[in-house]
Amino acid sequence: MNIENIDIDVFLHHVATAVSDKDAPVVDLIAVQTKDPYKVLTATILSARTKDETTAASAARLFREASTLEELAQLSTAQLEKLIYPVGFYKNKAKYLNALPQAMEQFNNIIPDTVEELIRLPGVGRKTANLVVCVAFGKPAICVDTHVHRIMNIWQYVETTTPEQTEKVLRSKLPARHWMSVNSLLVAFGQSICRPVAPRCSSCPLDEICPKCGISHGISLSTPAAKQQAAQPQSGHRANDSKRFISWNVNGIRAAEKKGFTGIVHMLSPDILAIQETKAHPDQLSQPLLDISGYHSYWHSAQKKGYSGVAVYSKLKPKAVINGLGHKDFDSEGRVITLEYDAFYFINIYFPNSGTELKRLDFKLEFNALLHTFLINLSQKKAVVICGDYNVAHKEIDIKNPKANVKNAGFTPEERAWMDRFLDSGFVDTFRIFNKEGGHYTWWSYRSDARARNIGWRIDYFCVDQNNSDRVVAAEILPDIQGSDHCPVSIDYRV
Ligand code: SF4
Repeated sequence: MNIENIDIDVFLHHVATAVSDKDAPVVDLIAVQTKDPYKVLTATILSARTKDETTAASAARLFREASTLEELAQLSTAQLEKLIYPVGFYKNKAKYLNALPQAMEQFNNIIPDTVEELIRLPGVGRKTANLVVCVAFGKPAICVDTHVHRIMNIWQYVETTTPEQTEKVLRSKLPARHWMSVNSLLVAFGQSICRPVAPRCSSCPLDEICPKCGISHGISLSTPAAKQQAAQPQSGHRANDSKRFISWNVNGIRAAEKKGFTGIVHMLSPDILAIQETKAHPDQLSQPLLDISGYHSYWHSAQKKGYSGVAVYSKLKPKAVINGLGHKDFDSEGRVITLEYDAFYFINIYFPNSGTELKRLDFKLEFNALLHTFLINLSQKKAVVICGDYNVAHKEIDIKNPKANVKNAGFTPEERAWMDRFLDSGFVDTFRIFNKEGGHYTWWSYRSDARARNIGWRIDYFCVDQNNSDRVVAAEILPDIQGSDHCPVSIDYRV
């Protein structure tokens, strides 16, 4: 392949303008506030796979108890776990922090300022080390986050298969004036515009000049592994040996079929596709819907025809399939189907709607309570992936008009409090691992042109148990996929 000679100054200038209203990464902010290499290092360790706001709060708690390496040495792993919770992988990070003071003795307790030395510390990889060198010491270093790696390949500025290779090529090619800023810029750009799935090319300032290498049908296939997957759509392998799972409330599978459902399945090619509101029994379906090439399908339909219902299409044959929760009233509505694999349970759920005048709120809360127990039991056996239409917008940023909807089904204090309890009990909303912004929705009313105006709700989720959240390598919303009043949501998950 010919590597394009894009004008990197022009590209990064456009990116800087496009993300100028985005928050600076938390580690940059901590550096601006303190200039203390110890604090930048520990905050950087905390920040991996964690929302900036969570990192900031946890770092503040940690620094109140341990503002120096000496004070850190006084804390036990259990105390550290408590202080830094709920950052991602807090147990591992607490161990790293606990081991840090002893590891620092080799450097006479002075935080080193080179990548080669930093990577000898616990929990510090090349990415963290580059970030510390750059942010804490102001020395030229290139931190290569997955967004930098992915976008540089889309631009054909590099042609590489790993972030490490990208770092190497950028060191020889990228002008030094961009080294310190490129990571912050492309992380913000990759989260908001050039997203891993469904990049927003039509609103991107680079639309006319971007090589768009690996971008197809609005789906980013930029890594060589993903390109290979696209060329061999039945292989089921994704980048990093992960599998892609998609969840979609199709609002009637027979209606969705008329809007191109099977074509969308082939285009997205998920390894597992969970659908909700099938509104059909298998005997009412066409052969193409029952037999999508390459997939096994499993159905749990409501007794009442044309109502509720869930199903799963899977390239991976499960060991067992469980329909329902073992409760007559809930199971008659076809709301839960569980597929068991060797390494994890995959649970697809269509939560009840609280209904007009909240007439079904009590029913929903009872369903939620029983489901919660069911999920905790499963998670004690192995990893769980829990997807579906939860029929609740959790936080104010998950809904366009929070104030106007506090008494409405799907945003009542009771439903949101259940979501709080559910997540607090050890589950993770995967989308929020990667994206902390508002304005990302999965459902829009058919009325008032709501979808075009993005007046929506985020009510479709992929959650996983906290112990296995490091298996999630991407979580996306696919708002450009039409065919229902909901759009699909996806995760890439290492199985
Ligand atoms: S792929 Fe699309 S969103 Fe990404 S940089 Fe190119 S034009 Fe912009």
